[in-house]
Amino acid sequence: MCFDEWLNIRLNKAKEAGTYRQLRVMDTAPRPRMSINGQKQIVCSSNNYLGLANDIRLVQAAKDVLHAFGAGSSGSRLTTGNTQWHERLERKIAGFKGTEAALLFSNGYLANVGVLSSLPEKGDILLSDQLNHASIIDGCRLSKADTTIYNHIDMGDLEAKLKDSRPYQRRFIVTDGVFSMDGTIAPLDQILSLANRYHAYVIVDDAHATGVIGENGRGTSEFYGASPDVVIGTLSKAVGTEGGFVAGSRTLINFLLNHARTFIFQTAIPPASCAASYTALEIIQHDKKKRQRLLANVTKIRTELQTMGYDVKGDLTPIIPVIIGDPQMAVNFSERLREQGIYAPAIRPPTVVREESRIRLTVTSDHGSGEIEHLLALFQFIGKELNRAL
Ligand SMILES: *Cc1c(COP(=O)(O)O)cnc(C)c1O
Repeated sequence: MCFDEWLNIRLNKAKEAGTYRQLRVMDTAPRPRMSINGQKQIVCSSNNYLGLANDIRLVQAAKDVLHAFGAGSSGSRLTTGNTQWHERLERKIAGFKGTEAALLFSNGYLANVGVLSSLPEKGDILLSDQLNHASIIDGCRLSKADTTIYNHIDMGDLEAKLKDSRPYQRRFIVTDGVFSMDGTIAPLDQILSLANRYHAYVIVDDAHATGVIGENGRGTSEFYGASPDVVIGTLSKAVGTEGGFVAGSRTLINFLLNHARTFIFQTAIPPASCAASYTALEIIQHDKKKRQRLLANVTKIRTELQTMGYDVKGDLTPIIPVIIGDPQMAVNFSERLREQGIYAPAIRPPTVVREESRIRLTVTSDHGSGEIEHLLALFQFIGKELNRAL
């Protein structure tokens, strides 16, 4: 069998299972209204929660540093890639997260893999939430420690597994702060009190929480007034740029700088990108209005959909999963939305369980009332239409 033939057999399996993936091209900058594959759409699936990705202040900051420092960083942070912009951004992140120090990675994926593959040792155990992000799962796979999965935000199950893991030398609880498919917020207060009781360390991945959750957008730590041992995050969601980070004690940061292979063996992100992130964090720190508009949009969509009778999962986060049930129904729903100008993906197995196939909506602070009314009207209309079709 030739190479491509073999690959096509495997691809056809994905097609038959309805899990085949394809790219679509964004023809315009990330805004609530975009042209996608040449079609005008209201985008309800972006991570650009505060509309910063396209903010002119970020673009200008990047432009200035781009001219001064060039397009690439030229090396890993430990060789020739470290500039004042990397250090400035790390101090900014630490200040924002209220920790002693922070360390930049190229993205959130590599931050998770770097921490989880280096921190726990052989003879330790990682206790990981069932719905944690793929990058946490991959980090656990690369770790020399064992991993056990506890049911999603199930504190009874976590406690049972902490008890079972007493023979291990050290225990690490690892959790998303805001879960990307369910929009739930991890009960960090309870997790930390269990960690305290059973002598465990806590690692939180605040990818979807940074800039959004808590009075000042500092994430789940601020939301609960809690201090986990390790906070991981990304600049690629509400912050609107790119890059991952770890925030914690100076000692933790020194440790990772010496041990995390995804830090050591990776080229530093471009200084211009650091400058854009720095400006984004300034805006997040000083402009509460964006977060207030976001929360108002989230609340409006959630309550209206619930009033229509939809099963809407999760907490007050910009991730609004609307349960449709049957996978094919969810796909049909998403297609109908797209025909009518709303871009929102259907999420099906294996990402979620079959009977919880869903439309995963996200909203940003830039979505206006016209866009939201259009979205809600379509949910009303398509819901009726598809129920009749059943
Ligand atoms: C998006 C996401 C990541 C990956 O971050 P990138 O910067 O895009 O690599 C990691 N963890 C969670 C929970 C995420 O949602």
